[in-house]
Amino acid sequence: MSDVQTLKDLKKLNEKYEMFNAFCEDGDLGDSKFLFSAKDNLTSSEYETCAGSKILGGYRPVFDATSIANLKQVGGKLVGKTNMDEFGFGTFSTNSAFGVPKNPFDRERSCGGSSGGSACAAAVLDDHLSIGVSTGGSICCPASFCGTYGIVPSYGRVSRYGLIDYGNSLDKIGLLSVDPAKLKEYLPVIAGKDPMDPTSCIQPELKLTGRKMTSVAVPKEAIEGISTDVKNTFLKALEDLKSMGIEVDYVDMPELKYAMPAYYVLATSEASTNLARYVGMRYGQQEGDLTQKFDDYFTSFRSQYFGDEAKRRILLGTYTRMEGFRDRYYAKALQVRMVVIDAYKKMFADHDAVLTPTMPFVSPKFSDISSMSPVESYKADFLTVPANLAGTPHLNCPCGYDGNGMPIGMQFVTDHWNEDQLVTMAMEWDKQFEVRKAEVKV
Ligand code: GLN
Repeated sequence: MSDVQTLKDLKKLNEKYEMFNAFCEDGDLGDSKFLFSAKDNLTSSEYETCAGSKILGGYRPVFDATSIANLKQVGGKLVGKTNMDEFGFGTFSTNSAFGVPKNPFDRERSCGGSSGGSACAAAVLDDHLSIGVSTGGSICCPASFCGTYGIVPSYGRVSRYGLIDYGNSLDKIGLLSVDPAKLKEYLPVIAGKDPMDPTSCIQPELKLTGRKMTSVAVPKEAIEGISTDVKNTFLKALEDLKSMGIEVDYVDMPELKYAMPAYYVLATSEASTNLARYVGMRYGQQEGDLTQKFDDYFTSFRSQYFGDEAKRRILLGTYTRMEGFRDRYYAKALQVRMVVIDAYKKMFADHDAVLTPTMPFVSPKFSDISSMSPVESYKADFLTVPANLAGTPHLNCPCGYDGNGMPIGMQFVTDHWNEDQLVTMAMEWDKQFEVRKAEVKV
């Protein structure tokens, strides 16, 4: 019943929160069992797919991404494509060509990014599940800012077929919901082998057996330089975990601080090659003066249609791959990636998970975001980037609220292929932590 209510209200809710780029306007549920939404960088045959970009405006794919198709197959109805930073480039969803999603707890604040619309939909709609995509933190960050659970499986666990790539070696498809039982139910549905994505074909099978965590490692580096509210809430959550019988050990993980710069080198290197296909000839926008020479046409078209952040990343990523600079940046960043993976493996030798706050501060106001430099906003990712670089699964759990009622999250990272303990943790945590539902009035 609440689902029908939600569908009718979708238009009004979207006017208020701008969480969708496209959504179901006919209110017809058919015989679907549940409603879900998907980030707009996943292709869908029912709706336009623009990945938050102007350059893909009007692009209507002819097929569903595997993750969407799988959810439909078990009775899900895709009700909307969620708003996001252009091609996933951002931390606050302010880099979208289609308006900016508003935080359900305070509309003057960000939903986080780049899956901001997915976290917003998960927090605003009743009983909702949303598919997000994370390259460097785009599921856990918005989940943390909007007070939802968010799970990012191991790299390769979920088929990326139908995903508009940001960084192919980093992109992972995951789920967001305020109800961890939904993650448990639907992660196995989207996970698994898909011949259309060879990287999804080699993993050990996903088995959710209810295995509990017994110990977590908390890197000291992760609680330096974060806001007092986040720190205090996190420390309180550690006490709660101890009372659940989990051993909490403080550890040194100095390698974490190298992850962020390495990530931005690798992610932009990959992004700059991925964006080369948008030239105004194959997908999306195609208007332009075709009497020009082809490179003049591409240049003028790309200058007009790419947003500022996309252009910045094309420049950065082209530079890091250039002859003469490649060894200094791209190759070095690959080495750092191995160092980060090794650091996690060392931790997993005697701990089930590495635990940190998810974001160093609560969701900022749009007025503060507009005065942040690109580097300041990249730095906000220093806690979410390492696990993404390592390709290890991770989970945001809401763990408290600041004095203004803004959600705070903590992030568990487990070893490759061990989503089991994350899902169990979300279920266990949810029994003793009361997740607040944002007050949503249509
Ligand atoms: N904020 C990070 C970036 O801009 C991560 C984004 C993502 O995971 N898509 O690259």
